[in-house]
Order: sequence, then C-alpha cells, then structure tokens
Amino acid sequence: MTPFSTLGLNQPLLDAISDLGFENPSEVQEKAIPILLEKEKDLVALAQTGTGKTAAFGFPLIQKIHAESRTTQGLILSPTRELCMQITNEMQLYSKYVKGLNIVAIYGGASITEQAKKIKKGAQIVVATPGRMKDMIGRGIVDISKIDYCILDEADEMLNMGFYEDIKDILSNTPQEKSTWLFSATMPKEVAAIAKKFMHKPVEITVGEKNVGATTVQHEYYVVGGRDRYPALKRLADANPGIFSVVFCRTKRDTQRVAEKLIEDGYNAGALHGDLSQNQRDLVMNAFRKKQIQMLVATDVAARGIDVDDITHVINYQLPDEIETYTHRSGRTGRAGKSGISMVIVTRSELRKIKAIERKIKQDFVEEKIPTGIEICEIQLYHLARNIKETKINNEIDGYLPAINDVLEGIDRDELIKKIVSVEFTRFFNYYNKARDLNSGTAEDKGRSGGNDGSVRYFINIGERDGYDWMSLKDFIRDSLGLDKDDVYKVDTKGSFSFFNTDAAFTPLVLETFSDLNVDGRRINVEVSNKPDRGGGKRKRRDRKNSGGRGRKSSSSFKGKKGKSGHGRSKKFKGFV
Ligand code: ADP
Ligand code: MG
Repeated sequence: MTPFSTLGLNQPLLDAISDLGFENPSEVQEKAIPILLEKEKDLVALAQTGTGKTAAFGFPLIQKIHAESRTTQGLILSPTRELCMQITNEMQLYSKYVKGLNIVAIYGGASITEQAKKIKKGAQIVVATPGRMKDMIGRGIVDISKIDYCILDEADEMLNMGFYEDIKDILSNTPQEKSTWLFSATMPKEVAAIAKKFMHKPVEITVGEKNVGATTVQHEYYVVGGRDRYPALKRLADANPGIFSVVFCRTKRDTQRVAEKLIEDGYNAGALHGDLSQNQRDLVMNAFRKKQIQMLVATDVAARGIDVDDITHVINYQLPDEIETYTHRSGRTGRAGKSGISMVIVTRSELRKIKAIERKIKQDFVEEKIPTGIEICEIQLYHLARNIKETKINNEIDGYLPAINDVLEGIDRDELIKKIVSVEFTRFFNYYNKARDLNSGTAEDKGRSGGNDGSVRYFINIGERDGYDWMSLKDFIRDSLGLDKDDVYKVDTKGSFSFFNTDAAFTPLVLETFSDLNVDGRRINVEVSNKPDRGGGKRKRRDRKNSGGRGRKSSSSFKGKKGKSGHGRSKKFKGFV
C-alpha cells in the first residue's frame, strides 16, 4: 500500500502518481481527497500556494469522471491563461493511464476556433478562464448544462481580477445539483460571499495558517521618473551587495526584458514567467535555490509557487494592479523568522497606491531615496574590503608566490591595497562617477521632463466597441510596446477607434510593433495622427514630418552604454587574490 492508495485512489491514478514521483500526499491532498471521493458535497479548501491543490481536486475529479461518455462533466475555472495551461498539463499527467479522457484548456488571447474544435471532439473536463468561458457559452460553443463538478481554483485571485460577474454568469449555466469545490489561498470576504451564495453547506478545510502579512518585512518606496525604473533597479541592487531577491514585473514581456538587461549588465539574474517551458522554469528555479541567481525577475503568476526561505529583498519593479497581490509579493521575504525588505519603485502618479497598500497591510512604508552614484561606490568599496578579508586563501597560489612577489616588488602595503581595490572599484567608479540623481522631484528631473514638444499622437483602429476603455487600452498598448505606464499617455477611446500619445523617441517602435499585429483575427492599424490632443472627429493620414519629430533628449545618461556593474565581478576578484 502506498500512502496515496489509503486515500481511496484507483490504480490508473496510483500508477501515474508513482510515475510523477510523488511519495506522500500533501496535507491539503490528505484532507480533501477522501472527502471528495466519498461524498457528493461542496467543499471550501484554504491552502497556501505550492501546497498541491491541483492534485487535491484533480485526482478525485479524474476518478469520478466517466471517460467513456463524451459529455462535459467537470469545469475548472482559473484566473489566468498561465494557470489554465498549468492545470491542464498537470491533469494530463495525472490521467495518463485513463483511456479516452480529454482535458481541454480554453483561455483568451488564443484562437477561439482551435479551442472550439477541441471542445467539439468531446472534452469531459474543461479548464477555463472566466472571460473566455463566458464568451464561448454565449456563442454556444461549449455546453456545461450537464456538469457534475465545478471547481473554482485560486478563487481569491479570480475575484481580485474582477471576474465576479463572469463567474456568476457561468454558474447560472450549470445545473443545480452539481458539486462545487472552491480552492483559495486566502479567504477575503468576497470569497466567503461566493461560497455563501453558490455553495450548499460546504465542508471546510484549512491547511497551515491563514494568510497573514509577515511583520518581519520592512516596506520601502522609491519615487522615480517612469523611464528610470531600470537604472533605479540597478542602483538598488548595487547598494545591496549581498542581495538575494525576487523582482516583480507586471507582464511577461517586462519580466523577460528586465532579466535580459540585468544579465547583459553583468548581474546574476534569471527570468520566470509563463512563456517559458516547465523545463526552463525548473532550471531557473534550481539555479535560484542554489543562489547562482541573485535576482529572479518574475511575474506574479509564475512566482506563486516560489518557496525559498532566505530571500533578502522583494523588489516591486512595478506595482501590481491589485493590492492583495502586493501581500503575496512581499510575503516572499521575511520568511522563517528572518527579516526582509520589500522595495517599491514608483512614479509620482502611483503614490496614492502606496497609501492604499498601507491601509491594507496595516503597516507604514518608509520613503527612501535611490542612492547616488557616490554612495554606491562607497558601499561597494567597503563590501570589497570585507570580501578580501573574508576570502579563503587558495593555496594553489603558493608555488607562484615568489614570481608574483617579483612582479610586485617595491610596492608598499597601502599602495598595494589601493591597487587591489582599484581592480574592481574603478569599473564601478567610472560607471557611477557622473551618474545623475534618479529621485523624482529633483530640479534635474523637472528640467528633463518639462514640456511635451517631442510628443506624438497616434490613431489606432480599436476602441470602445472592442471592449476597451482608456485604462485597458493603455495597458494593451504599453504591453504590446513593452513600455512603462507613463510612456503611453493621453489615451482617448472612441467608438471604433482611439488616440494615444508617446514621446517621439518611441514613434519607430510604435509603428513597427503595430505594423503586423492581429488581435482575435483583427488587424491592428496605428497611424500618426495630426489632430490636436483630446479632439474628436475625423482621422487623417500619417504626417511624416510629425513622426520624425524632435524627441526629448534621452533621459538616461546610461542608456546605450553597457556599464558592467554587477556582482559577477567580485568572484573574479576572489580568483585574483
Ligand atoms: P498549488 O495549486 O497549491 O499552488 P500545485 O498544485 O501547483 O500547488 O503544486 C505545486 C507543485 O507541487 C507542483 O509542481 C506539483 O507537481 C507538486 N506536487 C503536488 N503534490 C505533490 C506531492 N504529493 N508530492 C510531491 N510533489 C507534489
Ligand atoms: Mg494552484
């Protein structure tokens, strides 16, 4: 008997479990599986991320489904496309010895026709994001009127993302006499309300402690200009030489971009997001656990499973959309009784979000300044001295010592120290010597961003009729371009088209990015508009004079220069000593 067979799981599942190498059920699995297998009951299960919730509902669901029937019997709702795919992959592994079982994932941002085809072939289990699910029900593509089981996974996250109405809608298309299983990391009142409204006397199980914000975490914020996020991030890293951190970005694209830049700039960094294969993610996570990676740049979704104990800093490269998400992020540090720092890089316009977070976490933020170049040089210098002191001597050098002594003949102790330190320090110094102040609100900053004579207005052929408002369109545009929030502005949505601005420096990027972009089969068209801002009315052809316009001068004195300021070097240094 394996520990799993005592839970009542059948042979095909036990075989798959053994292939997966799972030896013992996790706590949530141990508690949930027997209940779900034995009774037709509703269930509310609270357990932190990474506790094995997918198998806790996946195993019993697979066992209870009639694979010989093609009717859709189980629906799993999950907040994001990444999680949908992840759950589907896991469930396919769990059910590899169950013949005829089809598990289909449906989510936004991918071809609806392809997904419809798969559903049509017969999917006993559908894993879906609420938005796309509602859409497909509306189009009559998927029939959930006969399901026996409905699973709400990461319910807190779904509600955070504003899916309440969609979920309500979807559930109204399901039969009364099904079982509903709700899984969540936290139990905010919104989740409790869903449980009350849509579930019948649910059994409740809680695993571990309920989510509480760690009090060992200090929260800090740094105000910078929208385009100084990256140089600010570098300085924060350089000012904390022993840093072991997770850097959170809002999109996969930003995550990849920031990680790549850090690597190029000589840091031990890695990216973790949903576009990587499971294998790539495992590699990154292993390197992070072994501390070969000091800065793990991650999306919120990908970081959900991270359970590494001695993270010193969480850096919010951008704030999350939802306050609740901030708690998840900052909770990655200050674990296991250690203290940690959660840093937020913000622009002036985002400051009110800090206030909202303070109210939520019931803790105050400390406003800190991005260190100046000279301050960083000083920190690095002492760090270097300490490193030299603590470096274990490699006795392989002994044999070469007479020759080295010959070379260094006549240099006294002070001079020798200066020279050794300079080997590393000069690179830092050259990089930071004339570095400007990055803190927003300084005279220098105001000088740079005064006026918008280098601004370009664009026409884009999507608008309110496509379901956008100015905020969601702004997000769509900046995500497509990989720009910061403040780089896209004056977004005005109209019925079937909209306008927006960027600085002229981005015009080539804008025109190129949108030159062959399709969304849901529709071709996106962007042109430079020569209409004044905020006006309504007709669109005009691209004005070439305008699109070449004077950009305001590149804001960063570092941009384009590949200053090698990172941590890999101290290792080289040790090698040298
Ligand atoms: P959650 O949904 O609670 O965040 P997941 O279901 O995604 O957690 O599981 C996290 C990881 O743990 C997955 O990689 C999964 O394969 C693995 N896992 C799940 N159950 C077990 C188990 N009993 N033994 C070992 N690993 C497990
Ligand atoms: Mg999960």
